Amino acid sequence: MNKLFGFFAMGVLMLTSCSEAQNAEQPWIVDRFDDIKVIRYEVPAFENLTLEEKELVYYLSEAAKCGRDILFDQNFKYNLAIRRTLETIYTELEVKTGDEFAAFEKYLKKVWFANGIHHHYSNDKFTPEFSEAWFREQLTKYINDENRQMDNDLLCKILFDKELYASRLNQKEGVDVITESAGNYYEGVNQVEVEAFYNGMAAADANNPEPISYGLNSKLVKENGKIYEKVWKIGGMYSPALEKIVYWLEKAATVANPTQKEVIEALIKYYKSGDLKDFDDYSVLWVKDTQSNVDFVNGFIESYGDPLGRKASWESVVNFRDVEACKRTEIMAANAQWFEDNAPINPAYRKKEVKGVSAKVITVAMLGGDCYPATAIGINLPNADWIRKEHGSKSVTIDNITYAYDKAAQGNGFAEEFILREEDRERAKNYGKLGDDLHTDLHECLGHGSGQLAPGTKGDELRTYSSTLEEARADLFALYYLGDEKLVEIGLIPSLDVAWSQYSDYIMNGYMTQLSRIELGKDVEESHMRNRKLIAEWCYEKGKAENVIELVKKDGKTYVVVNDFVKLRKLFGELLCEVQRIKSEGDYEACKALVEGYAVKINPELHKEVIERNKALNIEPYGGFVNPEYELVTDAEGKVTDVKISYPANYVEQHLHYGKEYSFLPSLN
Ligand code: ZN
Repeated sequence: MNKLFGFFAMGVLMLTSCSEAQNAEQPWIVDRFDDIKVIRYEVPAFENLTLEEKELVYYLSEAAKCGRDILFDQNFKYNLAIRRTLETIYTELEVKTGDEFAAFEKYLKKVWFANGIHHHYSNDKFTPEFSEAWFREQLTKYINDENRQMDNDLLCKILFDKELYASRLNQKEGVDVITESAGNYYEGVNQVEVEAFYNGMAAADANNPEPISYGLNSKLVKENGKIYEKVWKIGGMYSPALEKIVYWLEKAATVANPTQKEVIEALIKYYKSGDLKDFDDYSVLWVKDTQSNVDFVNGFIESYGDPLGRKASWESVVNFRDVEACKRTEIMAANAQWFEDNAPINPAYRKKEVKGVSAKVITVAMLGGDCYPATAIGINLPNADWIRKEHGSKSVTIDNITYAYDKAAQGNGFAEEFILREEDRERAKNYGKLGDDLHTDLHECLGHGSGQLAPGTKGDELRTYSSTLEEARADLFALYYLGDEKLVEIGLIPSLDVAWSQYSDYIMNGYMTQLSRIELGKDVEESHMRNRKLIAEWCYEKGKAENVIELVKKDGKTYVVVNDFVKLRKLFGELLCEVQRIKSEGDYEACKALVEGYAVKINPELHKEVIERNKALNIEPYGGFVNPEYELVTDAEGKVTDVKISYPANYVEQHLHYGKEYSFLPSLN
């Protein structure tokens, strides 16, 4: 539940040096289609790693690529069959011209980007812009008994019937979120059955001080009237991909330092046993290793894709420390207890002793699974509350990714269009990037780790609203402290202008500009977006009498302007207090009222306006990445002497390559 996505890219992150750009040649953007831009990222200082570290990056990166199919299958049970069919047609097509082909290519690019046929962010099924007749023609021509992955009629029905599997993740109030979601975490069971199944397990574990994250690594199915879990492990579901991952992890262990070797071996043990206790053991070792230069995430980690927030999607990130930028987060970590003690919340819900806050700025070397092509710009793990409480959490912000976002956004005209006042634009230009970076650091490093539950609260009471509330909590913590003089005092910011620039941007984005990413007529579904809307609208309403936030109309355009930063900060504090109370007490009804009241429904007129203004700028609202490639250099005896990095800049080729070389699962699992 603890990822911060790079969607500040919509706001201030895009503002640096507008004079520089305006050129059609944008060397950081390698592809654009539909609502997506694909960016390349660089891995500065890779060359400075030791040979063993480079090798470690190489092996962990191979492991990262081997889990790609798992995510496709998790997102929807027919995704792999569909992807393979589309790739076969795409590769074998003789005539690659014309409108139908262009629409087909765009569709395939979208499927690669989303790791399936549902939008990675809105979760809505894609609508093909090519005709069924054309598609059936290609099926007849290029798909035969040898390369057929699924029945043609079923395939066409899935692609072209709008109603069928319409949403990957349907969390609308009042629906059965399990049967109405197309994700592949459950089959043959309904919401009541799922909740009964896991409530039973949780009840049996009620007095365990180290509660197991039941359901995290399995699909729950009902077959012949019996409900049981198909566990994702070697010898279980997804075994062929997990075997490859373990193969590369074993290689990685041979070049890792002793501490990290133990971590990797614990992960291998878990992949073999599928036992969630082993996963916790691994997580504890992993969180304690704060010294290793190279680090990684590899596993079933985040549960955004499950409507009930239990099942985790597979992901991987390989990275190493950005030494210079780490000085920022080290200051934060050193002051962690002060932040906790001064949080504007009920003292009973503050952590008495903040443990193991480790925060660093990292350089990403490889993205995989649910972190590819779209990735977070910050990560805070592990997710298990008891481990966070007992052993702390590791928190990272990813500098080379935000840097690439920033570069790719130069000169796109966003600030001129959406920021009304010259002084706000100026502040954003000077302090925007630093404000974004610090917001991410505070959100990840301190926000998620802060606070504690009341005795008797288990942590699963908030059900479908828990992710939104948790993100709001971390954001509010970051926003509140960003405007604290303490930050100037400890040298993190030169002046509070950094905070004010972030406040303007956050409110504008939450209230208005982020809406460009949602189709007209739809509600806000994704939890990070919900959280931003919740905060912006709540503060707007509560500050209305004092005109803290103002909606200004000028030449028919709406602008969101913050008039009083100090009062806004006070509102952030008040909302944080309530959000923490809700989490600590597990107050479902209050949580529901807050989310449904502020975070979901969109004003249709404002929505339409934002979409049109954004469209006129030609800015794709979503970004993702192509990975670098690594190659082992060996001597005559086959001994590794170096690892070379290169930066391919072709999105299509990368995905065809991954589909060919890193695809290990059958089409149906
Ligand atoms: Zn977060």
